Amino acid sequence: MFDKLTQKISDAFRFVSGKSSITEKNIDDAVEAIKMALLEADVNLRVVRRFVNATIEEAKGEKVLRSVDPGQQFIKIVHDKMVSFLGDARQDLVLKGPDTISAILMLGLQGSGKTTSSAKMALRLKKEGRKPLLIACDLVRPAAVEQLSVLAHQIDVPVYKEEGATDSVKVYKGALDWARKNLIDTLIIDTTGRLQIDEPMMQELSRLKEVSNPDELLLVADAMTGQSAVDIAKAFDEKIGLTGVVLTKFDSDTRGGAALSLKTITGKPLKFVGVGEKPEDFEPFHPDRIAGRILG
Ligand code: GDP
Repeated sequence: MFDKLTQKISDAFRFVSGKSSITEKNIDDAVEAIKMALLEADVNLRVVRRFVNATIEEAKGEKVLRSVDPGQQFIKIVHDKMVSFLGDARQDLVLKGPDTISAILMLGLQGSGKTTSSAKMALRLKKEGRKPLLIACDLVRPAAVEQLSVLAHQIDVPVYKEEGATDSVKVYKGALDWARKNLIDTLIIDTTGRLQIDEPMMQELSRLKEVSNPDELLLVADAMTGQSAVDIAKAFDEKIGLTGVVLTKFDSDTRGGAALSLKTITGKPLKFVGVGEKPEDFEPFHPDRIAGRILG
């Protein structure tokens, strides 16, 4: 998935690895090559600059230049910086205990993978012992309700839908009633998406947020769209407020830009990644593991 980036960064490390001593020029060359690799991977320019400056500052310290294995020290610095840019520690969902109903609002543009990710989330929570309910509140995309029902059936999780509904808040209220009667502990709300951000969508989502008082507001964004995934996250955060991001299509050649820029630009953690079309293709996002994968 990060093949090209990994290759370019390992090329950059050649300027410093295997040497008993390295110079500031070696460090500059390695950092310049890493900078080019990150830009090519569609990482946000501001993020690249911060990454480069932080790496140079630390790498030019005495500890690296005088170390017995300076190349290794340099690689460790790059690794640690990358973990920090990816968000440091794993950020899990923050939900209430099973005696109270929790709600997760799944937000995102049409085609981002919102409906699929809602089902993936439901399957994951079910495996953790929770009792999730999928709620079909995407009333704009014609096939969304049916698609959610098919997925729910596949993973054997209940789905709440209202035929011919036009008001997602009304659907949500019906779902909450149903959930109370059926001992559901987690609501996963698949919301309306559009091709681009517009006011009616944001207003509808704000109303849904108000009535559902969600524990998690997750933006589902397509990693293939690179920096625009980050811009979309920023816009949703400003208008609705997010608690985290799910980056989908991580299995395709994403180049890595969105994952590396997201936390720094939006301040919101990446919580999960979608790694395929099936309900099982969903992984928690671990910054250290991803940094390890990028650095090869
Ligand atoms: P929505 O409009 O946001 O609800 O998007 P969908 O859930 O319908 O997803 C759009 C398309 O992306 C579908 O064909 C999904 O199968 C596909 N998709 C969703 N998540 C992933 C993923 O993580 N990897 C891949 N390869 N495809 C995905």
